[in-house]
Amino acid sequence: MDNVLDIAILGGGPAGLTAARYALFAELNVALISPDLGGKVSYPFALRGMSPVDTVWGAEMVRDFADFVAANLQHHIAERAAQVVRRDDGNFDITLENGGQLVSRSIIICTGVRAERLFVDGEAKFWGRGLSFSAISHAPLFKGRAVAVVGSGDRAILAVHILSRLASKVYHIAVREHEISADLANQAWSRPNVEVFRGWEVQQVVGASDSDEPADQDGSDEYVCGIDLVGLNGEVRRLDVDGVFIQMALLPNNSAVRGLVALANDGHIVVDQDCATSVPGVFAAGDITNTCAEQVPVSIGEGAKAGLTAWRYLASN
Ligand SMILES: Cc1cc2nc3c(=O)[nH]c(=O)nc-3n(C[C@H](O)[C@H](O)[C@H](O)COP(=O)(O)OP(=O)(O)OC[C@H]3O[C@@H](n4cnc5c(N)ncnc54)[C@H](O)[C@@H]3O)c2cc1C
Repeated sequence: MDNVLDIAILGGGPAGLTAARYALFAELNVALISPDLGGKVSYPFALRGMSPVDTVWGAEMVRDFADFVAANLQHHIAERAAQVVRRDDGNFDITLENGGQLVSRSIIICTGVRAERLFVDGEAKFWGRGLSFSAISHAPLFKGRAVAVVGSGDRAILAVHILSRLASKVYHIAVREHEISADLANQAWSRPNVEVFRGWEVQQVVGASDSDEPADQDGSDEYVCGIDLVGLNGEVRRLDVDGVFIQMALLPNNSAVRGLVALANDGHIVVDQDCATSVPGVFAAGDITNTCAEQVPVSIGEGAKAGLTAWRYLASN
């Protein structure tokens, strides 16, 4: 590898792969640092009485990009970046989790987010079998069905808004009241098919087998059929639902660049309309940024933009 890279891209999901394609177009000396190529693009989703569907628009494009990058990129470093530091000469030192070191003239950060979890029984088992972490992606599948939304922030309220127009019944389990923005919440809660549970906690997500559907490759034919809540006085209540949306925080994978770039209060990287961060030569794209994303097509577009902005930066520096 040449001593100094032109661009180091952190993360191999939709945003990072698209940025890498643009860097390869320009025949720049680029390294993609990511344990995987593809990121979070494969989400088959199934419900009682409904065969699995893949709801991701753009997944094929991401897979094509992954194949192209695998075939053409000289430096795919299948590792995680541990830390990025700006040097006095304006270049960046990148330390990998295995202790390896790289130097690059510019950086594109595309490390994505993780959905905050409840860690209750049934959550992992029914993920993709009626349980979702993304109402934006899966709400349309719940037309005419009963659902529960868990969470106390704006993501949860937005989910209640969307779902109350489609679902027959929406139970909102607002675990921590103080996080909710009042106007938005009051509008959502005033809809006739919305019922709010404040101060209740989720005990478990429950499922039942669907006799109409054959067992899947894991041997399971069980889907979400309810959620058990426990109240402050210990009372347990079961809500019969086909879907559970865990709409808590999205936790940005920002540990490598904390202290380098400006972060929003929730830890997302602050970018301008060109995907530039607070530090010259450092760009960011996809779910990790404060741009509204949470969808593959948005991340592809932002990754393209970050790649092009990095071209411009390298040409003028
Ligand atoms: C449950 C769920 C369902 C979803 N369903 C849909 C859907 O149906 N349709 C849709 O359009 N979108 C959906 N999304 C959203 C979509 O997955 C994301 O918007 C998209 O994947 C974001 O792309 P990204 O490249 O920003 O990040 P990611 O896809 O998250 O990729 C991040 C990459 O960074 C790597 N990485 C992380 N940390 C480091 C590090 N320190 N160093 C190097 N690499 C690192 C990861 O390994 C990964 O390769 C869903 C999301 C979730 C959580």
